[in-house]
Amino acid sequence: MTSPRTPSNSPDTSASGSAAPLDGPSSASPSPSIPAVYDVVIIGGGAAGLSAAVVLGRARRSVIVVDGGQPRNAPAAGVHSFLTRDGISPAELLRLGREEARSYGAVLVDGLAVDTRRSADGFVVVLADGMTITGRRLIIATGLVDELPDVAGLAGRWGRDVLHCPYCHGWEVRDQAIGVLGTGPMSVHQALLFRQWSSDVTLFLQHGMLDPDGALSEENGPTPAEWEQLAARGIGVVIGPVESLEVRDDALVGARLASGHLIPLTAMVVAPTFTARTGFLEGLGVAPVPHPMGVGQHLDTDETGRVRPDGVSVPGVWAAGNSTNLMAQVVVSAAAGLGVATAVNADLIMEEINTAVAAYRTPFSAAAEAAQSVTVLGDRRHGLSQPLG
Ligand SMILES: Cc1cc2nc3c(=O)[nH]c(=O)nc-3n(C[C@H](O)[C@H](O)[C@H](O)COP(=O)(O)OP(=O)(O)OC[C@H]3O[C@@H](n4cnc5c(N)ncnc54)[C@H](O)[C@@H]3O)c2cc1C
Repeated sequence: MTSPRTPSNSPDTSASGSAAPLDGPSSASPSPSIPAVYDVVIIGGGAAGLSAAVVLGRARRSVIVVDGGQPRNAPAAGVHSFLTRDGISPAELLRLGREEARSYGAVLVDGLAVDTRRSADGFVVVLADGMTITGRRLIIATGLVDELPDVAGLAGRWGRDVLHCPYCHGWEVRDQAIGVLGTGPMSVHQALLFRQWSSDVTLFLQHGMLDPDGALSEENGPTPAEWEQLAARGIGVVIGPVESLEVRDDALVGARLASGHLIPLTAMVVAPTFTARTGFLEGLGVAPVPHPMGVGQHLDTDETGRVRPDGVSVPGVWAAGNSTNLMAQVVVSAAAGLGVATAVNADLIMEEINTAVAAYRTPFSAAAEAAQSVTVLGDRRHGLSQPLG
C-alpha cells in the first residue's frame, strides 16, 4: 500500500501515542492517512530510524515509526563529528528529524515494541500498551544499551565526564587529566588513542586486567609490546582497582583507589559492553549474536542491512544503526537508515512487479480485467472501479 506525500499537518500521534489503536491485524480500521497495513514499520526513532522514515516517505511509502524516546546519546550535551550539526543537542537533532519525517507523511508513535510476529500481511508489532501495528516490512533501528563497569559514582557521570568515544568528546577534554579504566583488551588501545587529545593520560588497571588478588595479570595485563608503547607515549599506569569516582560541584575531580589514594582527573574513559536492543524480536526467532570484535552483541546483517541471525536472511526484516553496527556514530547511523530504506523500497517494488506480472499473465482474473478496462476505456469505463454513491 502506498500513499502520496501528505501535508506536514498530517495526523501526528507522537504526542498522544494513540495512533490507530488497533485490536489486531484484521480489525484495523483504515482511514485516508492511517492505513491498516503500513508498507514499512520502523522500530526505533533515533538517527537511523528517522533517516529511513524520511527516505521511505519521499519514496511515497506509508511508514510508521515507533519510538521509546531513549536515544543512546541522551546524556551528552551535544552531538559532535556531524557535518553542519556540530554541537547540536541530541534532543534538538531528533526534533528536527521528526519534523522532516512527518513532512513526508511518516506517522510517529511514542511507544515500546514488546513483541513481533509474522502475519498474513507481513508483520504485527505489539506495543507495551497493547496497540498493534501491521506492516509489510520491518526496519529495526532500536540502538544499543551501554553496559558500564561497576564502579561507584561512574554511571551518574556517563556522557558528561565519563566517556568512551574520542570522536564524540575528545576535543571537549583536550589537554585535561584523563583516566582510562582498564577493564579489558580494548583499554590499552583506548589509552593510546586518547593520548592524541592530551599528554596527561593515566591507565588504571582494573579487575579484568588484574588477578583476583589484585596483582597484575600476566594473561590479561598489557603485553610487553604494549608496556613499551605506553611508556614511549608517556602514559602513566596505576596497578590497583578504582573503587569510586569523586565528584565535586557537579564535576569529576578524581578516581579513588582501593588503597584510599585519590588520583586527580577531570575525565574518565571506559569501555562499555554494547548490547543491541532486540528482546521484542524473539517472536520472529531473531536474536543478537556476539560481535566479531568482542565488544558486545549485535544483529548480524548482510551488506544491504537484511537481518541474518544464523547466516540465513530473515525475509522482510532489516536493521540499521547501532542495533547492527555497534561502532556507528550518529551520521553513520543516519546513512545506514538511508541505505536500508532504499533496500526495503527495492524489495517492495520487486514484490509489486511480481504481483502485477502474475495478474498480467492471467488474462481472466479480476485484477487483469480491471486493468484492461482502465487501459481500453479510461474514463468511459463503468462498474465497481467508479466511485460509489
Ligand atoms: C554518551 C554518548 C555520547 C555520544 N556522542 C556522540 C557524538 O557526539 N557524535 C556521534 O556521532 N555519536 C555519538 N554517540 C553515538 C550515538 O549515540 C549513536 O551513534 C546513535 O545514537 C545511534 O543511532 P541509532 O538510531 O542507531 O540509535 P539510538 O539513537 O539509540 O535510537 C534508538 C531509538 O530506539 C528506541 N527503542 C529502543 N528499543 C525500542 C523498542 N523496543 N520499541 C520502540 N523503540 C525502541 C530508543 O528509545 C531510541 O529512541 C554517543 C554515544 C554515547 C553513549
